Amino acid sequence: MKVSLNNVTKTYDLKGSPAVNNISFTVEHGEILSLLGPSGCGKTTTLRLLAGFEALDSGFIYFDEKLIASANLTLPPEERNIGMVFQDYALFPHLNVFENITFGIRDKKIKQQECERLLRLINLTGLEKRYPHELSGGQQQRIALARALSTKPSLILMDEPFSNLDTSLKKQMRDEIKRIVKDSGVSAVMVTHDPEDALVMADKIIIMKNGVIEQQGLPHELYKRPATEFVARFLGEANILDISSFKETATGKVVLRPEDICLSKEGIYEGVVEKSQYLGNRVEVALLYQNQTILAKVPNTLVVENGQRISFSINWDSVYFLN
Ligand code: ATP
Repeated sequence: MKVSLNNVTKTYDLKGSPAVNNISFTVEHGEILSLLGPSGCGKTTTLRLLAGFEALDSGFIYFDEKLIASANLTLPPEERNIGMVFQDYALFPHLNVFENITFGIRDKKIKQQECERLLRLINLTGLEKRYPHELSGGQQQRIALARALSTKPSLILMDEPFSNLDTSLKKQMRDEIKRIVKDSGVSAVMVTHDPEDALVMADKIIIMKNGVIEQQGLPHELYKRPATEFVARFLGEANILDISSFKETATGKVVLRPEDICLSKEGIYEGVVEKSQYLGNRVEVALLYQNQTILAKVPNTLVVENGQRISFSINWDSVYFLN
């Protein structure tokens, strides 16, 4: 299903500024879209508008060609054919896996078969009789997703689905959840404040700030060609530099990622090492160059000392001009 938001605005407190301010985007059929941004930027509000938990002030939301929300219309959640996965999974603690997964399935005759199909999809065949407290965090999360998929929704909404998982499990679950969503062919919108979640999972990312969309696009587009300093810094470490300190004829600000700097004898620029940090798989070096500090991430074989003069070069193909 295709989801379209056209100029959607939502204000909770009429004296305050809108939580979501005139936003427009589309989720194509089968696409995973991530709403990404800092706390309070309006991600959850956008998800709640899509779910039908909130009414919008102005604008339109369409599911395919069907209008489901406008200033005069809020189609109730149960009529939207959506599935939801919450941050805390919200499994029913007194129901076992079978009962949790098949909770929303009305036709009793297909419950067994559907439960088996979904357990196969999430790689948890055989766990029907377990209770939520007998499952790991990652297993609970997959059960929550299976439950959300059990009613064959056209759209899955996920609110910070990885925030309760430790780093290694989170990495594994991103792959797993992406595979499950893609295998089931459903469209999905995922809210996260973690850029890595969005970069790994999403086909398309919407970066929000103060209720508005700062930029939307493909993950690598946003990382390589950020429209603003905010986007550049939100998606990873970035040196925002004056180009004139490298090329005298040019003016403007550029985004230079720390991995696009090479410390080598052949480098045509020279800086002074302010500090360096050994991080196992790499070394991070802060270089002072023309009164600005530049962060470089270089191979872990490099040994440098504070105060040392060092030549460096820049991969200009990767440098991006900010407007
Ligand atoms: P977080 O990552 O912290 O969940 P968010 O990006 O999801 O943040 P929202 O929850 O959408 O942000 O909140 C956007 C703005 O709307 C915030 O300023 C918030 O204080 C306000 N807000 C959210 N829910 C309500 C509510 N029910 N009543 C009044 N204001 C609200």
